[in-house]
Amino acid sequence: MARYTDASCRLCRREGEKLFLKGERCYTNKCAVSKRAYAPGQHGQQKKKMSEYGIQLREKQKARRFYGILESQFRGYFGMAVKQKGITGENLLKILESRLDNVVYRLGLATSRPEARQLVTHAHFTVNGKKVNIPSILLEPGDIVAIKDKFKSSEKVKSIVEIAGGKVVPKWLEFDAENLSGKVVSLPAREEIDLPIREHLIVELYSK
Ligand code: SF4
Repeated sequence: MARYTDASCRLCRREGEKLFLKGERCYTNKCAVSKRAYAPGQHGQQKKKMSEYGIQLREKQKARRFYGILESQFRGYFGMAVKQKGITGENLLKILESRLDNVVYRLGLATSRPEARQLVTHAHFTVNGKKVNIPSILLEPGDIVAIKDKFKSSEKVKSIVEIAGGKVVPKWLEFDAENLSGKVVSLPAREEIDLPIREHLIVELYSK
């Protein structure tokens, strides 16, 4: 499974925004965006006027990087969004939100999306009682995600709950703190997705 393996903080600095890829560190003053609020590289501090294409491209890259998805898969999601009824940009965000790794993160069962992805890949979760290890599974209303019993009492889970436990779970999910599990109640409405993404720019980019 291909994935991005370079330094995560460079991605945030490139987008000029916190993408929250490193869990607890993102909320401290060690965050690279707080310390160096300019793009990485030799010319990172130069101010350049961006073209319309450049703005659309950056928005797409930002969305991709929030969710940790490579270009080909992201394009695939866009294709799915186009075929669905409704507003394409919103459909795209709903698809991205319904990924298993994102739901694990949103439930507070991981401190970041990359960590959620790793935990899922290591088969620490079940969906509807069945073992899963594919972070890109798209969940539907009614699906139940749970930490596997064997993993529940681990030090790793204890530290995740300590860090992410106080997190507000979005309304489209239902969290069961006692059993460390969660249910997808519905797919999120656009206003329930709190990411600073201008999805219409992504639609414009891919519609060229
Ligand atoms: Fe991004 Fe987190 Fe690194 Fe800050 S600490 S730059 S939010 S990954």
